[in-house]
Amino acid sequence: MKFSNSLIKTRKEKVKEADSINADLLIRGNYIDQLASGVYTYLPLGLIVLDKIESIIRQEMIKVGGQEVLMPVLQPKENWLKSGRWETVDDLYRFTSYYTKTELVLGPTHEEVVVPLAKKFIFSYKDLPKYVFQIQNKFRDEKRAKAGLLRGREFLMKDLYSFHEDEKDLDLYYERMAKSYQNIFKKLEIGDKTYKTFATGGSFSKYSHEFQTESASGEDTIYFCSKCKVAVNKEIIGEQKVCPECGNKELIEKKAIEVGNIFKLKTKFSEPFDLKYLDKAGKEKFVTMGCYGIGLGRLLGAIVEVSHDERGIIWPKDIAPYQIHLVSLGNSHEVMEKSNKLYEDLNKAGFEVIWDDREESAGTKFADADLLGCPIRLVVSDKTYEKNKIEIKLRQTSKVDLVDESLLIKEVNKVLGR
Ligand code: ATP
Ligand code: MG
Repeated sequence: MKFSNSLIKTRKEKVKEADSINADLLIRGNYIDQLASGVYTYLPLGLIVLDKIESIIRQEMIKVGGQEVLMPVLQPKENWLKSGRWETVDDLYRFTSYYTKTELVLGPTHEEVVVPLAKKFIFSYKDLPKYVFQIQNKFRDEKRAKAGLLRGREFLMKDLYSFHEDEKDLDLYYERMAKSYQNIFKKLEIGDKTYKTFATGGSFSKYSHEFQTESASGEDTIYFCSKCKVAVNKEIIGEQKVCPECGNKELIEKKAIEVGNIFKLKTKFSEPFDLKYLDKAGKEKFVTMGCYGIGLGRLLGAIVEVSHDERGIIWPKDIAPYQIHLVSLGNSHEVMEKSNKLYEDLNKAGFEVIWDDREESAGTKFADADLLGCPIRLVVSDKTYEKNKIEIKLRQTSKVDLVDESLLIKEVNKVLGR
């Protein structure tokens, strides 16, 4: 992508309306644009990052047997009456059709759709287990939308629902999913800061688990066991002040962002929707269920909260909008020719490159490169090209080197771990 052709218009000043680091940096860097409180447009840069996160999550869900569907946002009131949640969910967007006068809901979650759907596929033990997921926008009338992408009113979520014969099978899958979540957070380079956190399980299970990313800007408080690397949330600490894994009483209080959670629903929804199967003995039983969510927008925002400095974002290499931010300085004929050739060669070699080909000062270009946060900055200037060298700077460490042109691709591959 050539900068001059892109939509990118960065802002120099702090964003007045931003109430958080992620909102400030993402708006300034032209990743997102705010339409209303808790409602954002993903601009081209933001959408590339979101798509990369989505693809990492999708691959992991397919590995644990997930089959992707796309369920409707519009859901009839009857299903919510049936589950008993029409009255109890307070952040539900409810409205009435102008023409038919039927009452509808904008889906904040999809149990009310997926369970009646499952009745069309699950009849006997031979149809179990099954795993269905989607990646789709959810709508919640949050009392207070805040902290940029961390708490929105419309936000992208991955939700997977699992269907089992019994609790034993659910328990096994639940553990598999917990590992799968940890793989996802590791790939996103927040694995060492994201803790499996014991949370209350509702009326059906002792525990559910949240995945909490340590961050000063998090709205949750967790209590961390440094031996087991797990945590417990605030509700649980009210009941027991020890690590549920090892009994350690010296738990460390931390602020954190809940990026995902996993939950054993058991028969909470299969009962009201009468989702049953015939077991091997020909006996009718309720299907046992689990549900597993990750907020993609919140995850993107959380990554910015934990990975930035005073100059801008520092993207993990697998989700940066571009791997390489190429800057040409001076814009002399020679520099532009050299840059153009380098841009084409890097593209041919399969790298994702944004080339700042604008007629702007070095200061502006460097500030934008730092703000946008791509892992590698390359500079072509009068000084470097005469020596057949390219300057390479890593966003993460600020380490600068002059590399021989002939060795550049090798060096870039090394940095990106390819
Ligand atoms: P919270 O306690 O933060 O409100 P929740 O328990 O309501 O979260 P779930 O209903 O389990 O969340 O949704 C699954 C995931 O969706 C959460 O772990 C989070 O990553 C994301 N999520 C939930 N609410 C929002 C929101 N308002 N904006 C962005 N992401 C959200
Ligand atoms: Mg909530």
